[in-house]
Amino acid sequence: MKEELFINRTLKGMGVSSGISIGRVRLIDRGKIAIPKRSITERHVEREIVRIRAAIEEAIDQLGHIRDSIPDEDVKKHAFIIDAHILILQDEFFSNSIIDVIRSELINAEWALEVVVSRFLASFDQVEDPYLKERGQDIKHIYERLARILSAEKRSPIERTAVKGKSVIIAHDLSPADTIQLNLNRISGFATDVGGRTSHTSIVARALEIPAVVGVGNVSSLVKNNDLVIIDGEEGLVIINPAEEVRKEYLAKQVHLRNLKKEHLRLARLKAETRDGFKMRVGANIELLAEMDIVEKYGASGIGLYRTEYIYLSKRNNLPTEMDHYHIYRKLAENNSMEYITIRTLDIGGDKFVSEIEMPKEINPAMGLRAIRLCIKEVPLFKAQLKGILRASVFGPLRILIPMVSGIEEVRRAKAIIKECMEELSRKHIAYNRDIKTGIMIEVPSACMMSDMLAAEVDFFSIGTNDLIQYALAIDRVNEYVSYLYEPLHPAVLKMIKKAVDDAHAAKITIALCGEMAGEPRYIPVLLGLGLDEISMNPYAIPLAKKMIRGLDHGYCRELLDEIMKKDSPAEAELLLKNEMMKLFPGDCPRVQKMIR
Ligand code: PEP
Ligand code: MG
Repeated sequence: MKEELFINRTLKGMGVSSGISIGRVRLIDRGKIAIPKRSITERHVEREIVRIRAAIEEAIDQLGHIRDSIPDEDVKKHAFIIDAHILILQDEFFSNSIIDVIRSELINAEWALEVVVSRFLASFDQVEDPYLKERGQDIKHIYERLARILSAEKRSPIERTAVKGKSVIIAHDLSPADTIQLNLNRISGFATDVGGRTSHTSIVARALEIPAVVGVGNVSSLVKNNDLVIIDGEEGLVIINPAEEVRKEYLAKQVHLRNLKKEHLRLARLKAETRDGFKMRVGANIELLAEMDIVEKYGASGIGLYRTEYIYLSKRNNLPTEMDHYHIYRKLAENNSMEYITIRTLDIGGDKFVSEIEMPKEINPAMGLRAIRLCIKEVPLFKAQLKGILRASVFGPLRILIPMVSGIEEVRRAKAIIKECMEELSRKHIAYNRDIKTGIMIEVPSACMMSDMLAAEVDFFSIGTNDLIQYALAIDRVNEYVSYLYEPLHPAVLKMIKKAVDDAHAAKITIALCGEMAGEPRYIPVLLGLGLDEISMNPYAIPLAKKMIRGLDHGYCRELLDEIMKKDSPAEAELLLKNEMMKLFPGDCPRVQKMIR
């Protein structure tokens, strides 16, 4: 019966790593852990405390063992995720919270663990940012490991069952430890019931270029071992036991994508230069050190935006120290294939949130005490990061990027704090690059309107269209009800960008654009026409961006921009652009319309 039901059944999830995989299922089914809930008397409190402490120790040992026995060099790079889990387990706030509940509620260790984890998860649930919401999964994975240890089931099925041959892994969820223990060279695809674009499985899948679909709902309960499945990481589909014609269709699609990838890797090595000789710098946006291999492979000339929020996230309840920052930035800096590495200072608040930084409850956090505003208020927090960057700056071309600037005082104050950091390092005879470049994000309309004044203060600008569009058009970037108003070709947005570019050039500083707009190939002629020196995007989007740049003429792009800027409606501007792109790149049109992951 089950077999018949699930022939050629298509499930929709979220494609988080491109490509097509066709293979046999290897089901990772952990099953549910039963949590015994018991009230205890005062005299058993110590016994339960000893149990939870022992379980935490055991979990740390297990994870340490997993990390130390990773056989594969490629996979080893992702071991920091395991370290992050170990750090949470070692965090006294975590263990003390459980112990407090055992004592105050007089309940057993398992139950207290569940109470504390539910509290943590509830606070993650309130977060809107999908990346941060996803971090709740880390707590869940730790919870599951502890619960299994407490219930005396010490090893996860993955540790017991080695995966044979190339297979497609299907699971309800995969913890980072699960993912790392799998022999990733033998895996051709992933699909999980839960998870989002920024879950660790997704990040690892993208870094290793394994097709993956997450958030599929109930795929793990619909398949069994050895079922044939198709994972379509482009469209976010999982097809169980595909019909022969569907399988053939996907085999053809797989060949097409492989050829496309070959073409992209070829394009990645080419220069980003227009037909009339204008060289545009094309960089990558990253969030993790682990992404550096992909960045190089896909042809970035530098890192246009390193979003450092993840560093704060992976250190729950324990803010990163100057040395923590230093070690990470030094590793980045030592990669000598990058011409520039732009480290954006902490951009927390609004849609981005880190629980251990105490933030006031705000009615309107997108306009609240966030990013540079918070850093200026919490100077020690800011200085730890800045000194980490400065220390690492002797190892490579690091530059500092300040987010969410809305006026001149913020820039001057940030520069004064950077200067203080330099003086403090000099007093300790610690080397740093005295000429390190400092730039600001142009992502608040006020910054555009006074970009001439701001340009006199800094070495470079980087336009963040994700926020600029949000603030200029008064549309919440995470609100799906108004997402239809998110229009990069809105005349107000184009005029603001143009003004910032002209002011930057008048002051002889460079200007980049690192919002999502840069990664959409159809906007490349617009960005060239605007006169940007540099664009930065998701690394996979770079080859196609280079292709566009190489097929265009800078002069033509300026003329096209003039025509686009005459349009008072973004829809008309899009239509004009689309028609031009169809003429210029007829073979690439579907790709040009779509963002490449
Ligand atoms: C932006 O706002 O466009 C940007 C690049 O930064 P983030 O998306 O991290 O806010
Ligand atoms: Mg921003």
